Amino acid sequence: MNSVKRCCIMNRTVLQTILVRQFQTSTRRLVELTSVRYPNVKRGQYGIVQNSDIATFERLLPGRVLTDSLEGYNTDWLKTCRGASQVVLRPKSTEEVSGILKYCNEKKLAVVPQGGNTGLVGGSVPVFDEIVISTQLMNKIISLDEISGTLVCQAGCVLASIEDYLSNYKLTIPIDLGAKGSCHIGGNVATNAGGVRLLRYGSLHGNVLGLEAVLADGEVMDCLSTLRKDNTGYDLKQLFIGSEGTLGIITAVSLNCPQKPQTVSVAFLGCQSFQTVLDVFKESRHRLGEVLSAFEFMDSQSMTLVKENLKLASPIEDFPYYVLIETSGSNGSHDEEKLNDFLEHVMGSGLVEDGTVATELTKIQHIWSMRERLAEGLLHDGYCYKYDVSLPLSSFYGLVEAMRERLGAMVTRVVGYGHVGDGNLHLNLTSPEYSTEVMDKIEPFLYDWVAERKGSISAEHGLGFKKREFIYHSKSKSAVVLMKQIKKTFDPNMILNPYKVLPDF
Ligand SMILES: Cc1cc2nc3c(=O)[nH]c(=O)nc-3n(C[C@H](O)[C@H](O)[C@H](O)COP(=O)(O)OP(=O)(O)OC[C@H]3O[C@@H](n4cnc5c(N)ncnc54)[C@H](O)[C@@H]3O)c2cc1C
Repeated sequence: MNSVKRCCIMNRTVLQTILVRQFQTSTRRLVELTSVRYPNVKRGQYGIVQNSDIATFERLLPGRVLTDSLEGYNTDWLKTCRGASQVVLRPKSTEEVSGILKYCNEKKLAVVPQGGNTGLVGGSVPVFDEIVISTQLMNKIISLDEISGTLVCQAGCVLASIEDYLSNYKLTIPIDLGAKGSCHIGGNVATNAGGVRLLRYGSLHGNVLGLEAVLADGEVMDCLSTLRKDNTGYDLKQLFIGSEGTLGIITAVSLNCPQKPQTVSVAFLGCQSFQTVLDVFKESRHRLGEVLSAFEFMDSQSMTLVKENLKLASPIEDFPYYVLIETSGSNGSHDEEKLNDFLEHVMGSGLVEDGTVATELTKIQHIWSMRERLAEGLLHDGYCYKYDVSLPLSSFYGLVEAMRERLGAMVTRVVGYGHVGDGNLHLNLTSPEYSTEVMDKIEPFLYDWVAERKGSISAEHGLGFKKREFIYHSKSKSAVVLMKQIKKTFDPNMILNPYKVLPDF
């Protein structure tokens, strides 16, 4: 094992931006229309966009109404869903969003809010011809209180740009994910995105201090508080966190931003069994305590994918399982001491046989890219059946094994990786192209398996279009009835992101 050395905090932003963009532009094949692949979904009784509507939009947003080359807005990142929207609107302000929604609500024109379009459940693209409302141009920082670490910004700010901005003030953002070069903070809030820092900073339900959203009728709901404590009435902002564009369009958010860590170290370790991964996790919580900032795992099939599809070399020899541990803090020698103590223990006790610790930025970058580029690497196989579930740690890897046994040679590979620290497994199956036979073998078996073990069928990606019918696997009938009532209260004409999150009414 390399000796543990401190290294400066690394900025992975540039790399990730390049990777996500490179991937988006390198795969231009046309995907089957969602309405064809899912013929059971019927278009709602919505208006059809007319030339007069386009003219009105042009008056509301001069020069920011797109009607040509909309393929990128109609197709999701995974290339699994494709709508047929004829128009994309690009507002710059809350007032403009309000004007658009007021008009669409009166005309009963359905809309789909879109941020960075990195969502993985088909929620950010139209199913039929819904109008896309993109937050791309709503990318202004509104204010920063350096003392409290409170940032207020528009919903279209790209996550990585916010992180760059905050680093000038020795602050950071409490959320980090592989798509940060493209995803928007509004999209993150709308999906209640998790990511690799959730272990350290908790979920967006705790870190979003306030938000502003435009409701279906154009009314602006101003809950853009910057207070850490505010117990006056129902906490309405929470309803929007994870609502996936079905209750309103988030136009601005207020975030609690922690101090930027001064030092970061990354260890990449090999384990012989999944039980050992759990034992190492337990030890890391015990011995690293407050400096532990990420605990990720990937299996040997993930590593094979990394080597074959991404042409990245493993820094250590082959193992059945790997863990990536990140520590970050404000005192290098203190953090180093803790990491050394932890590593000595896991190596000395035989839990870990081989590993490496990053001592330079390029190596840290390399280790993180093996984990963060997995989503991209999977798509090189053709089609990816993507699942992100929460499971008790005792059943965590059992699902990967059950799917491998069930699917056998029907799929190219079954890959398991994820945020062990949050009980969040990313399970991915690939095949050269979409196959209903494979799909029928996976669903609903996989969801039944998760429900039987009291897990959740979506840990962080949400339900979107693809998973809405399976909501009952994770929520009771009475809870879904209440959700439908809430939806009707906020959006009586059901114009906001139809066919998403909830089963048909
Ligand atoms: C490589 C890669 C890695 C990823 N890693 C993670 C991860 O670790 N953790 C995780 O949770 N997710 C992850 N994701 C999924 C995705 O990045 C997140 O769901 C992200 O939060 C989506 O943000 P976005 O701006 O791209 O939203 P979009 O994809 O544009 O939209 C997602 C949903 O939010 C709605 N929406 C978007 N903006 C708004 C708004 N302003 N108001 C209301 N509704 C809105 C859309 O209608 C849609 O339903 C990853 C994706 C990729 C491609």
